[in-house]
Amino acid sequence: MYNIAQDEAQIASFAAHLKNAGDVQPFDFCSRSEGCIYPERGRPGVLETFFFACAHQFGFWTLAGNRWDKPMVARLDGRDLKGSDFLFRACTRAWQADPAAFLPATLAGRSNAELGELFRDDAGAIPLPMWPEHLALIRGYAQWFVSRNQEPADVLRRAAAAPKPLYALLTALAEIPGYAEDPLQKKAMLLAIVLENRPEHFLKVSDPESAVPIIDYHLQRSALRTGLVRVGDPALRNRLEAREILSQAEEELIRAATYEAIEKLMARSGLSAAAVDWFFFQNRTRCPETTEPDCPACPVRAICARKTRLFQPVFRTTAY
Ligand code: SF4
Repeated sequence: MYNIAQDEAQIASFAAHLKNAGDVQPFDFCSRSEGCIYPERGRPGVLETFFFACAHQFGFWTLAGNRWDKPMVARLDGRDLKGSDFLFRACTRAWQADPAAFLPATLAGRSNAELGELFRDDAGAIPLPMWPEHLALIRGYAQWFVSRNQEPADVLRRAAAAPKPLYALLTALAEIPGYAEDPLQKKAMLLAIVLENRPEHFLKVSDPESAVPIIDYHLQRSALRTGLVRVGDPALRNRLEAREILSQAEEELIRAATYEAIEKLMARSGLSAAAVDWFFFQNRTRCPETTEPDCPACPVRAICARKTRLFQPVFRTTAY
């Protein structure tokens, strides 16, 4: 059994830092102009576009042999976009052309080739490294809604009417292909914070205690480098530093430890999942994958363990 554990002292330091930082605010996932990453506010089809797009936030990196190679970057509308931004922009582009583009019935009526057209970059390629998995989830997602004669708005309406709206939404999403596969519900919670923080405030959360941490690969890398999670086994640490593929059991242990560390960070700092997620999401640029982290410019430099050689688990999954 591996020795992977949360560092309670580090969690306490980070909780105190985030509590006092003042600028840890949730992001609103909204664009203010045409050509931007996210849909503009208050238009038809925004809800359905986010229900769809959040389910496809995974797998934006490539392998070379048994090692992580590089992040996915592709050109769209003349801009080089990293994976998550590319996916959101491609969805926004399709939604701008047809507000009904991501209604389940529309998706169900499209051929595989037509679905692929939605995600072509400026060179005419589909750059998503896990396109077959995306396609399978689109089919399962559309079928789930169409076979029940339901829409994302029905799922949202039922959740909003429940005594615990966030809990009800997460419970409903746990049944829907695209969200159902991950027991830690990373994409489901991402959708929840989008719906809560968008200017339309689709979801009014009266049960913040139902929030769960959003554990993707950026957050796992941050947890390992900052020392929130410590890996005691030198052999496993070496493989993390070498960016080698890990087994499912190894990935699950690191991700579970990160989940618990962030859960404690949320509880002790009193910050929402959205605010903590936005802090670490920004940290992906300060503490990146492909270049040396800029520790002297980092707001957590005084408390960070600065294990800059450590890397997130390299593992193919549709969960993140
Ligand atoms: S940039 Fe440096 S100080 Fe900041 S989180 Fe990364 S390793 Fe820590």
